[in-house]
Amino acid sequence: MSGGQEMRIPEEGISKDEVLEALRAYKNDDADYERARTWSLVYYLGEEHHRFLTDVYSMFMSENALNPVAFRSLRRLEHEVVRMTADLLGGDGDTVGVMTSGGTESCLLAVLAYRERAASRFALRKGRPEMIVPESVHVAWEKAAKYFGVDIVRVPLRDDLRADVDAVARRINKNTILIVASAPSYPHGVVDPIAELGALAQAHGVPLHVDACLGGFMLPFMERLGFGVPPFDLRVPGVTSIAADVHKYGYGAKGASVLLYRSMDYLKHQFFVYENWPGGIFISPALLGTRSGGAIAAAWAAMKAIGMNGYLELTRTVMETTRALQDGIRSIPGLDILSDPEMSVFAYGPTDKKLNIFAVADQMEERGWLMDRLQRPEALHAMVTPRHAPIVGEFIADLRDCVEYVRRHPKESAKGNAALYGMIARVPFRGLVRSEALKIMERMYGPEMKMPL
Ligand SMILES: *Cc1c(COP(=O)(O)O)cnc(C)c1O
Repeated sequence: MSGGQEMRIPEEGISKDEVLEALRAYKNDDADYERARTWSLVYYLGEEHHRFLTDVYSMFMSENALNPVAFRSLRRLEHEVVRMTADLLGGDGDTVGVMTSGGTESCLLAVLAYRERAASRFALRKGRPEMIVPESVHVAWEKAAKYFGVDIVRVPLRDDLRADVDAVARRINKNTILIVASAPSYPHGVVDPIAELGALAQAHGVPLHVDACLGGFMLPFMERLGFGVPPFDLRVPGVTSIAADVHKYGYGAKGASVLLYRSMDYLKHQFFVYENWPGGIFISPALLGTRSGGAIAAAWAAMKAIGMNGYLELTRTVMETTRALQDGIRSIPGLDILSDPEMSVFAYGPTDKKLNIFAVADQMEERGWLMDRLQRPEALHAMVTPRHAPIVGEFIADLRDCVEYVRRHPKESAKGNAALYGMIARVPFRGLVRSEALKIMERMYGPEMKMPL
């Protein structure tokens, strides 16, 4: 369907059956997460869990978390999700927090809260507030810095892809409002040296936020299963806040993350109050206004129904599947795992410079897999879920074939996405890449909806 001009709300509504039919047709070309063809975006446990979440979500879909006095159930559910998560992530009786709509909102709010906290403590010195992040930090922190007028100071990674603590130390100054670390980082799946960063942060009186959006509901269970998990949560002195996404490895419905602070001394700077609005005295703990209770209830329901033993079992399956996948990838000549072998999120790429990994990805996509591509270094990315357990053999066989195919047909590297990515990598001016990306967005979101591929 093209063009915005002729699209209208139908004069007479069409039958609900037709509507459902049309929606099913729209969905046909979507990434196939039910058959575990995706390596990001969806944490799907299968039909039964999906139906359970749907029931819970619809039960609270119309309730509005905007007013927790009108919908006391939501305040209570959110409170219990926060308490359960605080318990899981080394919190104590002082730990407080809120549920947000997702990892991005948790990152945005942390930057806002620490900026406001700094402003309340010292009249801002010359220059803008600064936050120090490792290069591998999630892009949501770039967004937060941009939205809230905080300068982002990126420090390089060590050879093991973890934050360079000495480099962080060198960048701390009077305008530093926050240090961020990941547990683990999205691109490489490695946990930054949180204990060392905590000691450093404490010594300088600077807050340290741990972005455990990805690992918050994996690492605690891995630790219990005996994986070598370094200390990463509120147990570490110097860590002042941490966020974990329930809609990732917590297996809730989309729209649920938990943002925890060591105490109200931090959280209070996130609160918004406006006492002079004609519509009434307004208070808001987080970014959104109206918010469905669905995702809050689904987060609570997932934690209660899965339970600690359920999460341990799921984590065991994920890690066994990860190991099988990594062994399979390593058995393919010319490929290797680029990052920590002990995490369900990892990067893998070529050991042989002549192998174009993006051409391999294109071939995999022809076979129905949705592949995730990284830049710097050029690599592929996997986020393993329990749903991947039965497809490891099939995936590795396809990957082996595709690597062989690309070796035998080097011209494939000049086609499709591989060509596009190769071109982007060679463009010397990042500003040019940026302006091209903006043009793509204008076409995608323009009246004609022109998709790039
Ligand atoms: C996913 C993720 C985010 C952003 O979360 P969304 O839910 O996609 O908004 C932030 N940080 C890390 C480490 C993540 O993995």
